[in-house]
Amino acid sequence: MLNRIDLRGGVSDPRDLLPRAQLDVSVAVEQIRPLVTAVREHGYSAVREASERFDGVAPEVLRVPVEAIAAAESTLDPQVRAALLEAIARVRKVHADQRRVDHTTTVVPGGTVTERWVPVDRVGLYVPGGLAMYPSTVVMNVVPAQEAGVRSLVVASPPQKDNDGLPDARVLAACALLGVDEVYAVGGAQAVAMLAYGCAVDAAGSAHCAPVDMITGPGNIWVTAAKRLLRGVVGIDAEAGPTEIAILADDSADPVHVAADLISQAEHDPLAASVLVTPSVALADAVDRELVRQVSATKHAERVDTALRGPQSGIVLVDDLAAGLRVVDAYAAEHLEIQTVDARQWAMRVRNAGAIFVGAYSPVSLGDYCAGSNHVLPTGGCARHSSGLSVQSFLRGIHLVEYTEAALREVAPHVVTLATVEDLPAHGQAVSLRFPEMS
Ligand code: NAD
Repeated sequence: MLNRIDLRGGVSDPRDLLPRAQLDVSVAVEQIRPLVTAVREHGYSAVREASERFDGVAPEVLRVPVEAIAAAESTLDPQVRAALLEAIARVRKVHADQRRVDHTTTVVPGGTVTERWVPVDRVGLYVPGGLAMYPSTVVMNVVPAQEAGVRSLVVASPPQKDNDGLPDARVLAACALLGVDEVYAVGGAQAVAMLAYGCAVDAAGSAHCAPVDMITGPGNIWVTAAKRLLRGVVGIDAEAGPTEIAILADDSADPVHVAADLISQAEHDPLAASVLVTPSVALADAVDRELVRQVSATKHAERVDTALRGPQSGIVLVDDLAAGLRVVDAYAAEHLEIQTVDARQWAMRVRNAGAIFVGAYSPVSLGDYCAGSNHVLPTGGCARHSSGLSVQSFLRGIHLVEYTEAALREVAPHVVTLATVEDLPAHGQAVSLRFPEMS
């Protein structure tokens, strides 16, 4: 069922041979550029027009009334509430451990540099809601921002036709459970643009969404493209676009589990990527048979089938696990499962991945909800340079430089020398004129 890419016999750089989506983010950026410009220039009317076009519904007032958020919580199914509270507790436990403390380094007597960790003031958290609804993403966005100490948090999520143009009720309930009361019924690229530029949120222009400093959260290719386009106008976390799973597996893996895990991520999006990397032809054949059996029985069979048969998915055959490790490092998957003998030992050698799921009992679905780890993770190879969402994502390190007169006098000749080398004499002058003996 999956495309096969045979890299046995050795390939020095597998990067160009790996499965990749045909529609990439740079193409999508050009497609959403006019929409982002329209939101910057026309605000509310452009946002509403885009909502009508892409979501089939556009509420008159984009900000969700606080009563509607409270009502969603009060009618939340008790089992869903219990599961969300468990997820919140576990995610909070992990993220509370990520808090940073200020640190002062004494460079020389009388000369110190202190690193102060300061949270971003106002952040916009995107919660997807196109093909699937993501109350879990409210948790994954909000908890690290709260643990970082962000004061102003706003959530944007697409309006739903079947919820009177409000975001999904479970998404609103999750906001209520976490104490978030500024929520907008806006999705896609128009939501990212609205958060970045700020915008009136009703036709009369009497209510506004103030611009945010940073936008985080996952989304489809249009959301990801808007984040890339607006990076600089606002800060962004990483590009957390259509989901990817890579599984490095050997003969010890259970093909039933491997197939189920590949399907679980394919069900997010027809553009989702599911990749198996293995030296075992027997496992590859068994997984392929399992996929045919399981896909026909899964709820979102059409979406899964499209994702699995797409050029972004496949089985990569390698000579051995060491070669497999080079392939998964080159691929830099958002989610990487290791289902091998000595799985932890292989996991510790991986260089590039958003998150690694070790062994037969740590599937990606666990991390999507209740492991305590964050599920907002870099895609499209961005795991080569970016991390998943964390408390650190919402913090800025500000250096406080404090030197006494004596400490500055001691290093002044070196400053003047370096300023002279760079032909920036005023830099040297700014130091030497403080000390008459140097002029
Ligand atoms: P979404 O909210 O991301 O996208 C829906 C929005 O897309 C709609 O509101 C609409 O305005 C816009 N849209 C739809 N078609 C468009 C078009 N042709 N042009 C411009 N805009 C258009 O919800 P979704 O579609 O369900 O996607 C969620 C995505 O998030 C999936 O791709 C999933 O894999 C991904 N995801 C990623 C991570 C991660 O951390 N990387 C985590 C969870 C989910």
